[in-house]
Amino acid sequence: MFDIAKQIAENVARVRERIAAAAARSGRRPEDVTLVAVSKYVGTDEVRALLAAGCHDLGESRPQELWRKAETLGEAAIRWHLIGHLQRNKIARTLPLVSLLHSGDSLRLLEAVHAECLHMDRKVPALLEINVSGDATKHGFHHDEVEPLGDALARLDGLQFRGLMCMAGREGAAEDARREFAQLRELRDRLQTAWAGRFELAELSMGMSGDFEIAVEEGATLVRVGSMLFEGAGD
Ligand SMILES: *Cc1c(COP(=O)(O)O)cnc(C)c1O
Repeated sequence: MFDIAKQIAENVARVRERIAAAAARSGRRPEDVTLVAVSKYVGTDEVRALLAAGCHDLGESRPQELWRKAETLGEAAIRWHLIGHLQRNKIARTLPLVSLLHSGDSLRLLEAVHAECLHMDRKVPALLEINVSGDATKHGFHHDEVEPLGDALARLDGLQFRGLMCMAGREGAAEDARREFAQLRELRDRLQTAWAGRFELAELSMGMSGDFEIAVEEGATLVRVGSMLFEGAGD
């Protein structure tokens, strides 16, 4: 009988091996890279298979879908990552569920998130999403817009800024992706110096199914892999 859980476990193992190999190629340790399994394409059976395969960091791009899965899966030990745009009217319901907000994509949003953090009396770890490709249809801060925001971000002390996130501009364009990932790392290094003592920008969230190995070689600490984990597991 066709076994979805077995297929997903094999896919997870394969992705983990490839992460480890990419880490080794760049002199990094595999444990420095967290696999965020993006569950947005699948239902709760597949999520349970991910959990059984040891994936407890799960990514969703739509807040409503994250609410739905968090509610259905209840107690399960899951660290939810919100990786897609958060509309301001969904902040209050989403934040209590989220371990890391990857998609801190505007000052206006972050100010509203900060206000909710104060209200909840809980600090929420967050990343700044950078629009590395400059594509106007994409969310995120422009590359050279961020550094002058140090003071404004430091005032948002309901949030804990942990690093940067990006999506490569074009799928399947490996050399473009490598350049954009390197740019994100360089921006992080520059901000870490400019903002010394304010934030610890340890995290780089970059890389998806098509380019996570390149991302690891360029310093990713979080890779967001979805479709590759479900190959051969139906549809
Ligand atoms: C869907 C999504 C992913 C995963 O993409 P795959 O190519 O399926 O691995 C990663 N990051 C974000 C922001 C996404 O929306």
